[in-house]
Amino acid sequence: MTVQFKLPDLPYDAGALEPHISRTTMETHHGKHHAAYIKNMNAMLAERADAPNSLEDVVRLAAREGQKKLFNNAAQSWNHAFFWQSLSPEAQSPSGDLKSAIEKSFGSLDAFTEEAKTKAVGHFASGWLWLVSDKNGAVRLTDLHDADTPITDVSLTPLLVCDLWEHAYYLDYKNERPRFVDAFLSKLANWRFADVQYRAARSGGGWSFPA
Ligand code: MN
Repeated sequence: MTVQFKLPDLPYDAGALEPHISRTTMETHHGKHHAAYIKNMNAMLAERADAPNSLEDVVRLAAREGQKKLFNNAAQSWNHAFFWQSLSPEAQSPSGDLKSAIEKSFGSLDAFTEEAKTKAVGHFASGWLWLVSDKNGAVRLTDLHDADTPITDVSLTPLLVCDLWEHAYYLDYKNERPRFVDAFLSKLANWRFADVQYRAARSGGGWSFPA
């Protein structure tokens, strides 16, 4: 059986993030960019009989084998599905154990926000800003290039991600990445999702791409 993956639905209406991200951006980003990564990956998977059934394992296999084209399309398929989960129509802030972990790693929530802005704005060209946790519950920010994803490192659990590719913000913000990053951090970040991921970082599991 050839393994094939479906484009997951957005977890909210495409217009739900307005005015911070327009319906047009969401429809293009999800319906064109994300859909193309999945289509390209499925075409490559159709060529091989030994593809794993989970997208996480496809990403790790492609990374191990140095199959760059498969890796790029599989990782982008995964990263975007995780990005949709990382956004919420309702403004939130970190709470509970995750808030404490952020304060421990960064000094304060404000210091975390400043470092996130600096890393996201300073990231050269395309990529992603990830908040990750290790298995002991220590959190940190890491900006990765192009399709790179923390799921190739099984000691890390991603908590949240912000897409830094221009296609994520150019229709709404043109070249003003700092304004998009501000909106992500102050209005859009899904801290309830991050909290579920944070608990999973220590107990195992966490969000996985729908099979
Ligand atoms: Mn994107």
